[in-house]
Amino acid sequence: MTTTAKAAASRKPTVLLEYHLKQLKLPTVLREYAAVASACGKEGTDYPTYLLRLTERELIDRERRAAERRIQAAKFPVLKTLDSFDFAAQPSINEALVRELATGEYLDRRENVLLVGNSGTGKTHLATALAFSACAQGRRVRFHTVGGLVTALLEAREERRLGRMLEQIPRMALLVLDELGYVPFSKTGAELLFEVVSRAYERTSLLVTTNLPFEQWTEVLGSERLTGALLDRLTHRVHILEANGESYRLRQSRQRQKARRKGQD
Ligand code: ADP
Ligand code: MG
Repeated sequence: MTTTAKAAASRKPTVLLEYHLKQLKLPTVLREYAAVASACGKEGTDYPTYLLRLTERELIDRERRAAERRIQAAKFPVLKTLDSFDFAAQPSINEALVRELATGEYLDRRENVLLVGNSGTGKTHLATALAFSACAQGRRVRFHTVGGLVTALLEAREERRLGRMLEQIPRMALLVLDELGYVPFSKTGAELLFEVVSRAYERTSLLVTTNLPFEQWTEVLGSERLTGALLDRLTHRVHILEANGESYRLRQSRQRQKARRKGQD
């Protein structure tokens, strides 16, 4: 055999191997098999150990890619986590309950969460952080502002794809409905929101944030009967988190002003 023919023959298995790994969709094994082989060769590890190391890396990467996809699919407006939430700045929030919810067990029990409080008290932050934890745990999540969702539902209805949109709901583990209460709905809008809550009932957990106490929900939903039925489903199994401290944004800007004034003195 000529040297070039020899080189081609020795190259062939790796070419084929790489083709198979692509077909089998093992990108991490494909990327790392040579480096891991060389490390294992130096250490004198056996073949099963070599294979174990590669498959472990593939599994870890696969889980990471899936979590990234779930986070993308959740469509968070801004990514926030519990690490960046300062509980000391908002002592009205039940930290123990937040930490318990972050384990995601309420999602297995299809329980809901209601976050009630004034503007700027960290409701959206906490809702996003809890939903982010759920994504990291392998759960399917979708974040909506209530207003955005109702608009999307009305559009879907116009375009005769409401059925398909509503069918997505039970496939989710958690649906975040942020900011109930700022904008009142039309009659149809309120009915569509009720439809979402009904479909989610005992199948998908809902995490609702609102600045409104229960007594005022009728004001945004219009009908008293519909509000009653919606609250009934939502609160059947619910964890309530109340944030009634002052606005974090307001406090920060006040602190900044104070610092500025000090600087001027
Ligand atoms: P809400 O939804 O209750 O109106 P947000 O969650 O939007 O409030 O909070 C407003 C801003 O302040 C966000 O940028 C949020 O990250 C931040 N924030 C609020 N509370 C806290 C907190 N306790 N620790 C850290 N950041 C906070
Ligand atoms: Mg908010």
